[in-house]
Amino acid sequence: MKIAVFPGSFDPITIGHCDILERALPLFDKIVVAIGHNSQKKYLFPLEQRLQFIAQTFSHEPKIEVTDYTGLTIHFCQQIGANYLLRGIRSSVDFEYERNISQMNFAVSNNQIETIFLICQPVYSHISSTIVREVLIGKGNAEAFLPPKVRELIRHGE
Ligand code: ADP
Repeated sequence: MKIAVFPGSFDPITIGHCDILERALPLFDKIVVAIGHNSQKKYLFPLEQRLQFIAQTFSHEPKIEVTDYTGLTIHFCQQIGANYLLRGIRSSVDFEYERNISQMNFAVSNNQIETIFLICQPVYSHISSTIVREVLIGKGNAEAFLPPKVRELIRHGE
Protein backbone atom coordinates (compact mmCIF):
# COMPACT_ATOMS: atom_id res chain seq x y z
CA MET A 1 0.00 0.00 0.00
CA LYS A 2 1.38 3.40 -1.01
CA ILE A 3 0.98 5.75 1.94
CA ALA A 4 2.09 9.39 1.86
CA VAL A 5 2.38 11.85 4.71
CA PHE A 6 1.59 15.50 3.93
CA PRO A 7 3.25 17.30 6.84
CA GLY A 8 2.79 20.92 7.80
CA SER A 9 1.40 23.43 10.26
CA PHE A 10 -1.82 24.07 8.32
CA ASP A 11 -2.45 27.25 10.33
CA PRO A 12 -4.94 27.28 8.62
CA ILE A 13 -5.31 24.92 5.64
CA THR A 14 -5.71 26.96 2.42
CA ILE A 15 -7.01 26.23 -1.08
CA GLY A 16 -3.32 25.92 -2.07
CA HIS A 17 -2.89 22.93 0.27
CA CYS A 18 -6.18 21.45 -1.02
CA ASP A 19 -4.99 21.66 -4.62
CA ILE A 20 -1.82 19.72 -3.80
CA LEU A 21 -3.80 17.09 -1.88
CA GLU A 22 -6.39 16.58 -4.59
CA ARG A 23 -3.77 16.27 -7.30
CA ALA A 24 -1.77 13.79 -5.21
CA LEU A 25 -4.76 11.52 -4.54
CA PRO A 26 -4.40 9.38 -7.71
CA LEU A 27 -0.75 8.70 -6.83
CA PHE A 28 -1.33 7.10 -3.41
CA ASP A 29 -3.65 4.63 -1.65
CA LYS A 30 -3.74 6.84 1.42
CA ILE A 31 -2.56 10.34 2.33
CA VAL A 32 -2.14 11.25 5.98
CA VAL A 33 -2.26 14.99 6.54
CA ALA A 34 -0.06 15.34 9.62
CA ILE A 35 0.23 18.44 11.77
CA GLY A 36 3.61 18.58 13.48
CA HIS A 37 3.79 19.94 17.03
CA ASN A 38 6.40 22.57 17.57
CA SER A 39 6.32 23.98 21.08
CA GLN A 40 8.52 26.91 20.00
CA LYS A 41 6.01 28.08 17.38
CA LYS A 42 3.08 30.39 18.04
CA TYR A 43 -0.04 29.34 16.18
CA LEU A 44 -3.13 31.38 15.33
CA PHE A 45 -5.48 28.39 15.48
CA PRO A 46 -5.20 25.77 18.23
CA LEU A 47 -4.28 22.25 17.12
CA GLU A 48 -7.82 20.88 17.60
CA GLN A 49 -9.22 23.53 15.32
CA ARG A 50 -6.58 23.00 12.64
CA LEU A 51 -7.34 19.26 12.70
CA GLN A 52 -11.07 19.96 12.46
CA PHE A 53 -10.61 22.32 9.47
CA ILE A 54 -8.85 19.54 7.54
CA ALA A 55 -11.14 16.72 8.69
CA GLN A 56 -14.26 18.66 7.64
CA THR A 57 -12.78 19.74 4.33
CA PHE A 58 -12.01 16.13 3.36
CA SER A 59 -14.84 14.32 5.16
CA HIS A 60 -16.03 13.00 1.76
CA GLU A 61 -12.60 11.60 0.84
CA PRO A 62 -11.89 8.15 2.34
CA LYS A 63 -8.23 8.16 1.19
CA ILE A 64 -7.37 11.22 3.31
CA GLU A 65 -6.76 10.96 7.05
CA VAL A 66 -5.76 13.69 9.48
CA THR A 67 -3.66 13.48 12.59
CA ASP A 68 -0.92 15.22 14.56
CA TYR A 69 2.52 14.02 15.58
CA THR A 70 5.53 14.98 17.65
CA GLY A 71 9.18 14.37 16.91
CA LEU A 72 10.85 13.78 13.58
CA THR A 73 8.61 13.58 10.52
CA ILE A 74 10.47 10.51 9.23
CA HIS A 75 9.91 8.70 12.54
CA PHE A 76 6.22 9.39 12.20
CA CYS A 77 6.32 8.02 8.63
CA GLN A 78 8.06 4.87 9.86
CA GLN A 79 5.52 4.39 12.66
CA ILE A 80 2.59 4.38 10.25
CA GLY A 81 4.34 2.57 7.38
CA ALA A 82 4.49 5.54 5.01
CA ASN A 83 7.28 5.59 2.42
CA TYR A 84 6.46 8.95 0.91
CA LEU A 85 6.36 12.54 2.00
CA LEU A 86 4.29 14.98 -0.02
CA ARG A 87 5.20 18.66 -0.31
CA GLY A 88 4.04 21.52 -2.47
CA ILE A 89 6.44 23.90 -4.24
CA ARG A 90 5.38 27.48 -4.96
CA SER A 91 8.65 29.14 -5.85
CA SER A 92 12.41 28.81 -6.03
CA VAL A 93 12.52 29.82 -2.36
CA ASP A 94 10.34 26.82 -1.47
CA PHE A 95 12.51 24.64 -3.70
CA GLU A 96 15.81 25.61 -2.07
CA TYR A 97 14.38 25.02 1.39
CA GLU A 98 12.66 21.75 0.51
CA ARG A 99 15.63 20.29 -1.32
CA ASN A 100 17.79 20.22 1.83
CA ILE A 101 15.05 18.74 3.96
CA SER A 102 14.23 16.10 1.38
CA GLN A 103 17.90 15.10 1.01
CA MET A 104 18.25 14.87 4.79
CA ASN A 105 15.08 12.85 5.19
CA PHE A 106 16.15 10.42 2.48
CA ALA A 107 19.58 9.89 4.07
CA VAL A 108 18.40 9.71 7.67
CA SER A 109 15.70 7.18 6.74
CA ASN A 110 18.32 4.90 5.12
CA ASN A 111 17.02 5.83 1.69
CA GLN A 112 13.54 4.61 2.56
CA ILE A 113 11.51 7.80 2.48
CA GLU A 114 11.09 9.66 -0.78
CA THR A 115 9.67 13.17 -0.93
CA ILE A 116 7.28 13.73 -3.81
CA PHE A 117 6.94 17.36 -4.87
CA LEU A 118 4.04 18.83 -6.75
CA ILE A 119 4.46 22.27 -8.28
CA CYS A 120 1.47 24.40 -7.40
CA GLN A 121 -0.81 25.80 -10.07
CA PRO A 122 0.04 29.45 -10.85
CA VAL A 123 -3.28 30.66 -9.42
CA TYR A 124 -2.22 29.38 -5.98
CA SER A 125 1.40 30.44 -5.95
CA HIS A 126 0.77 33.62 -3.92
CA ILE A 127 -1.28 31.86 -1.24
CA SER A 128 0.34 31.03 2.09
CA SER A 129 -0.99 30.34 5.57
CA THR A 130 1.24 33.19 6.78
CA ILE A 131 -0.54 35.75 4.60
CA VAL A 132 -3.96 34.32 5.46
CA ARG A 133 -3.13 34.69 9.17
CA GLU A 134 -2.06 38.29 8.68
CA VAL A 135 -5.30 39.10 6.88
CA LEU A 136 -7.37 37.41 9.60
CA ILE A 137 -5.47 39.12 12.43
CA GLY A 138 -6.02 42.47 10.69
CA LYS A 139 -9.75 41.65 10.47
CA GLY A 140 -9.60 41.48 6.68
CA ASN A 141 -11.50 39.07 4.45
CA ALA A 142 -9.45 35.93 3.75
CA GLU A 143 -12.35 33.84 2.45
CA ALA A 144 -11.04 33.65 -1.12
CA PHE A 145 -8.04 31.65 0.13
CA LEU A 146 -9.94 29.22 2.35
CA PRO A 147 -11.81 25.99 1.55
CA PRO A 148 -15.62 26.43 1.94
CA LYS A 149 -15.87 24.33 5.13
CA VAL A 150 -13.14 26.40 6.79
CA ARG A 151 -14.89 29.63 5.80
CA GLU A 152 -18.05 28.37 7.51
CA LEU A 153 -16.25 27.20 10.63
CA ILE A 154 -14.41 30.53 11.00
CA ARG A 155 -17.63 32.52 10.40
CA HIS A 156 -19.49 30.53 13.05
CA GLY A 157 -16.60 30.81 15.46
CA GLU A 158 -16.92 34.57 15.48
P1 ADP B 1 5.18 24.34 6.98
O1 ADP B 1 4.89 24.95 8.30
O2 ADP B 1 5.90 23.03 7.06
O3 ADP B 1 5.74 25.27 5.94
P2 ADP B 1 2.62 24.66 5.72
O4 ADP B 1 1.37 24.27 6.43
O5 ADP B 1 2.87 26.11 5.53
O6 ADP B 1 3.77 23.92 6.48
O7 ADP B 1 2.68 23.97 4.30
C1 ADP B 1 2.62 22.58 4.11
C2 ADP B 1 2.96 22.25 2.67
O8 ADP B 1 2.03 22.86 1.79
C3 ADP B 1 4.32 22.71 2.20
O9 ADP B 1 4.86 21.72 1.33
C4 ADP B 1 4.05 23.95 1.43
O10 ADP B 1 5.02 24.21 0.44
C5 ADP B 1 2.73 23.58 0.79
N1 ADP B 1 1.96 24.75 0.42
C6 ADP B 1 1.59 25.78 1.19
N2 ADP B 1 0.88 26.70 0.51
C7 ADP B 1 0.80 26.22 -0.76
C8 ADP B 1 0.24 26.72 -1.97
N3 ADP B 1 -0.39 27.89 -2.02
N4 ADP B 1 0.34 25.96 -3.08
C9 ADP B 1 1.01 24.79 -3.02
N5 ADP B 1 1.58 24.27 -1.94
C10 ADP B 1 1.48 24.97 -0.81
